[in-house]
Amino acid sequence: MDPVFASLPDTIFDEMSGLSRRHGAINLGQGFPDGPGPEDIRARAAEALMGGLNQYPPMRGLPELRDAICAHYALHQGLDLGVDEVIVTSGGSEALSDALMAVLSPGDEVVLFEPTYDLYLPVLRRAGAVARFVKLEPPGWRISEQALADAITERTRLVVLNNPHNPAGRNFDAEELGLIAAACVRHDLLALSDEVWEHIRFDGKPFLSLMALPGMRERTIKVGSGGKIFSMTGWKVGWVCAAPALIDPVSRAHQYMTFTTAPALQAAFAWGLAKPPAWFDQMRAGFQRSRDRLAAGLTGAGFAVLPSEATYFLCLDLAASGLPADDDAVCRRWVAEAGVGSIPVSALCPDQPVRNVVRLCFAKSDAVLDQAVERLDRARRLF
Ligand code: PMP
Repeated sequence: MDPVFASLPDTIFDEMSGLSRRHGAINLGQGFPDGPGPEDIRARAAEALMGGLNQYPPMRGLPELRDAICAHYALHQGLDLGVDEVIVTSGGSEALSDALMAVLSPGDEVVLFEPTYDLYLPVLRRAGAVARFVKLEPPGWRISEQALADAITERTRLVVLNNPHNPAGRNFDAEELGLIAAACVRHDLLALSDEVWEHIRFDGKPFLSLMALPGMRERTIKVGSGGKIFSMTGWKVGWVCAAPALIDPVSRAHQYMTFTTAPALQAAFAWGLAKPPAWFDQMRAGFQRSRDRLAAGLTGAGFAVLPSEATYFLCLDLAASGLPADDDAVCRRWVAEAGVGSIPVSALCPDQPVRNVVRLCFAKSDAVLDQAVERLDRARRLF
């Protein structure tokens, strides 16, 4: 048995969703909206499905989706991608795994920012690589130049960035991204930029793709997710964008990992990506309202809410909320005794756990958010 995977538990997301089901709790743990998704995009997929688009599409993805991805990023992020620089995958997850498998060799070192999305570490280890962590500290979760410099050695091959960042809710600014770009150029490193949350960002703050920074066009592998952009996380249609020298090996990994992805869903997202910019603004505004509603409710109930610039998540500072700084224990009691599922951020810190922060998903209806606040308020008597 392979020791990397054999020793791993189920992810915290699946565990907390399972506990939420078992206890009949409101699930603010795993990140998914509670709506059915945009009706016009679902109709498009249904039409494609009934129209017979059901056999293997091209390995690199439907040409119409690859074209739509190039046009979308040209319009929204000023990127100049050619269709040969894009492949479609079964979700951002497969895209990330393909990229890690394609570029890493045994002994390579990889810089990860902690807290870290849970997929990166096991997959890079399976590729024989070794992680070096750069700690992000609440409440600001800023990237520090010194911490980044300390994590880079002569064996470093790759920096993995998640921007916007789950669970910190950061939309990293030009200065922080500039630090990463400068380090990549100076040390001749590749970057894997997990940008699945690129459209879910708030307060009018723009999103800057790492690929758009000077010196990064040829060394960045950019990952996106239609499931995130269109609020249908179960569809698992993602993509990878990179210069030909990088995308070709990534496409070989994809070829043997899944080979293709449901064509009817690809066709529907191709159509969706061409929606006017106002549609994306409106989608963001909806999530921003939900963020503000949950933040206001929790603040009113005496919880210390950390700022959230992006993603479906906001975090709570436990100690500042008058709760024990033991996120795992608090989350387990909340789901079993208060009826609210959440995610302990220490589960996303394999190196030096932050134990004082809990992540909550606000991509839910107003009624669900209000009820969760009520339950968490009542649960204060548990501690
Ligand atoms: N990266 C990050 C940072 C994520 O939060 C997620 C989904 N939670 C993914 C990748 C996976 O995306 P997908 O569902 O498209 O596989």
